[in-house]
Amino acid sequence: MRRILIAGNWKMNCLGTDAIALADGVSAGADPGVDWLVCPPDVYLGEVAKRLSGSNVQVGAQNVSEYDFGAYTGESAAGMLADVGCSFVIVGHSERRALFGETDKDVGAKAARAVIHGLAPVVCVGETLEQREAGETERVVIGQLEAVAGALGVAGMQQMVVAYEPVWAIGTGLTATPEQAQEVHAVLRSTLRAHDGALAETTRILYGGSMKPANAASLLAMPDVDGGLIGGASLKVDDFLAIGQAAA
Ligand code: PGA
Repeated sequence: MRRILIAGNWKMNCLGTDAIALADGVSAGADPGVDWLVCPPDVYLGEVAKRLSGSNVQVGAQNVSEYDFGAYTGESAAGMLADVGCSFVIVGHSERRALFGETDKDVGAKAARAVIHGLAPVVCVGETLEQREAGETERVVIGQLEAVAGALGVAGMQQMVVAYEPVWAIGTGLTATPEQAQEVHAVLRSTLRAHDGALAETTRILYGGSMKPANAASLLAMPDVDGGLIGGASLKVDDFLAIGQAAA
């Protein structure tokens, strides 16, 4: 009942020609059995969205301002992202939290702004290696999710996708085992259940962190893993498509 979502986070890794080639490659091979999303850098969003219009690949941004239109130099408003063809936006990626100081409160505000403008927030949560080793994984991810829940309410949360991305697995080549991922995904789903039973059943919870063709099938086979948020492997058309095929 939850359709698998295969999402690519291109981060700050491509120029325009690469972005167009990636978009074309993905749309040419995207298996209709799953949902597809690509998240290019802001400056290429409009071009990629035009290229993908009418395809079965949706477009999302990697970040959004928590503010509405106004004097916020350098920011992109949710309304602008929607205007250029985005239907999703990643919020709270660990790189934004660690490198740009985003707090749980900021992430909640960004998710709320996204929902107001009709964008589905892809809410990232995940623990560092130190937190995992200290036995704090559950506390950390529940706290991160609850901050967004408080900002969105149940109605807003219906638009949301959650992504569990253990920080120690992002870009490191280390991947959570399917069992480790499932354990945290189940915790996240029961956190949603405490808000609303139907919400828990319909919300997609993606896994992210060095997902690649070789490990995708076993991760996606877990009952509470509803897709992937893929960084490195989303930059190679064949690898990204193969992850979707592993799911379909
Ligand atoms: P990775 O990145 O697949 O390169 O580990 C995932 C992410 O940061 O979303």
